Amino acid sequence: MGSTVKSLKGQQHELANSSFQLTVLQAPTQHGTQFPAFARRLQEHDLFPLKPTGTTILQVNMGKMCNQTCKHCHVDAGPDRKEIMTRDTMQLCLDALQHSPDITTVDLTGGAPEMNPDFRWFVEELSRLGRQVIVRCNLTIILANKKYHDLPAFFRQHGVHVVSSLPYFQASRTDAQRGDGVFEKSIKALQLLNAEGYGLEGSHLQLDLVYNPSGAFLPSAQASLEAEFKRRLRSGYNISFHNLFCITNLPISRFLDYLVQSGNYDAYMEKLVNAFNPVAAAGVMCRNTVSVGWDGSLYDCDFNQMLELEVALGSPRHIRDFDAAALDARSIVLNQHCYGCTAGAGSSCGGETVK
Ligand code: SF4
Ligand code: SF4
Repeated sequence: MGSTVKSLKGQQHELANSSFQLTVLQAPTQHGTQFPAFARRLQEHDLFPLKPTGTTILQVNMGKMCNQTCKHCHVDAGPDRKEIMTRDTMQLCLDALQHSPDITTVDLTGGAPEMNPDFRWFVEELSRLGRQVIVRCNLTIILANKKYHDLPAFFRQHGVHVVSSLPYFQASRTDAQRGDGVFEKSIKALQLLNAEGYGLEGSHLQLDLVYNPSGAFLPSAQASLEAEFKRRLRSGYNISFHNLFCITNLPISRFLDYLVQSGNYDAYMEKLVNAFNPVAAAGVMCRNTVSVGWDGSLYDCDFNQMLELEVALGSPRHIRDFDAAALDARSIVLNQHCYGCTAGAGSSCGGETVK
């Protein structure tokens, strides 16, 4: 599947620049007031400086190339992005994992990670190391080209945990966010995954879906939305899946552009700030995850990666220097976008953080 929509970078948009995004995040509101600093909110709850609880997940961003150009993408991914991880950098990830037995899960993301020519080699090597592999698969990639049609079988062979975005169980809302025709192709791809045994009740082949809101609002409660998704996808398309993860859109990159363009930025930030939940703050995903960029740089999470906020000075900052103990001693780098992880029931790559 192709896409003619350009990334912010392709448009040479000012918000393609991470420093400019941080300037917007720290600017006063239109009424001249300032949102409280996120770090100060953590201080009030004895959570500052925010420290890791022990790294068990390595999230690897294999590149910004994608067959889609979704409206709210925090990566600013798309067909016009050429940054991808080399096999040498993947080898450095494997070397790091060999010396880090506490990291049990490797979470592969992008862009569309499957578009990286060394994707399958990397998954095979990770399986050999005995790590649980998560692939954040956008579904349409499976149908985008003949060379991807066997991805469901490849995932099954390696026991890959598949996590896929499906913003809604109806075509109009899904296509509005992810592009024309995406819903129909996503449904077909989900049926192919089900045919391999993914997402079926009692199956060890884990298939989870991700919901994120289509506008400037917070996601509704995960449990009730999951029940509704299950009912509608089962009755409409005979599709099964395991869990629905509800994710809050963070105010960065293309979602930040949407907020600014639509005049919703101040109101959305106010919603996030007012919904600050200290229990969610204690459970943010950066406490047990380290994120690796396509060039091997290390970050506290995929969002900090896109804002080019590397791990704190003094910590190993490249995968070649990976040292789990040293990284577990770091202080996590925070900014105003972090309010997106701590609003309401919390938000992470695994959905709500407050059960
Ligand atoms: S949200 Fe995912 S599928 Fe959509 S453009 Fe970004 S990386 Fe690609
Ligand atoms: S945005 Fe990243 S650093 Fe900030 S709280 Fe969320 S996971 Fe942690």
